[in-house]
Amino acid sequence: MAIQHTLSIIKPDAVAKNVIGDIIRRFEENGLSVIAARMLRLSAEEAGRFYAVHKDRPFYKDLCAYMSSGPILAMVLEGQNAVALNRQLMGATDPKQAEPGTIRADHADSIEANAVHGSDSPENAESEIAFFFSDLDLHSRR
Ligand code: ADP
Ligand code: MG
Repeated sequence: MAIQHTLSIIKPDAVAKNVIGDIIRRFEENGLSVIAARMLRLSAEEAGRFYAVHKDRPFYKDLCAYMSSGPILAMVLEGQNAVALNRQLMGATDPKQAEPGTIRADHADSIEANAVHGSDSPENAESEIAFFFSDLDLHSRR
């Protein structure tokens, strides 16, 4: 398994609940390192660009409103198999389907307000990281 980078976002609902530390602890305890981090608030237009792949889905407009409703913490995680490992720690999109002990099982309110984002492939990780960070922002531990 190769060392990978992936984009993680702590979404507005989880930032508002003050569980940033709990979420980062799970990453660190499972072998992922935070190599870049930035708190920001997206405009609805920026959220729309980030989630452009979903533009034809019925929930797109609501998703853009939710993702721009408050500050988020965007991070780059580094580690062995980081893309899939992060997805495993996150749990399923719908918290009702998420495995017990996952971030979404413990912190998500709904299928929309589901606490975290994680890239779903190494290719998407690269473009999602570039959406928020430049190469100079990444501090690899390798
Ligand atoms: P994931 O975040 O698990 O990769 P998707 O890429 O399918 O899930 O969806 C992106 C985000 O859109 C989800 O995390 C969630 O915030 C929202 N979303 C997905 N499906 C729905 C839905 N059926 N209703 C409302 N919001 C949804
Ligand atoms: Mg997705």
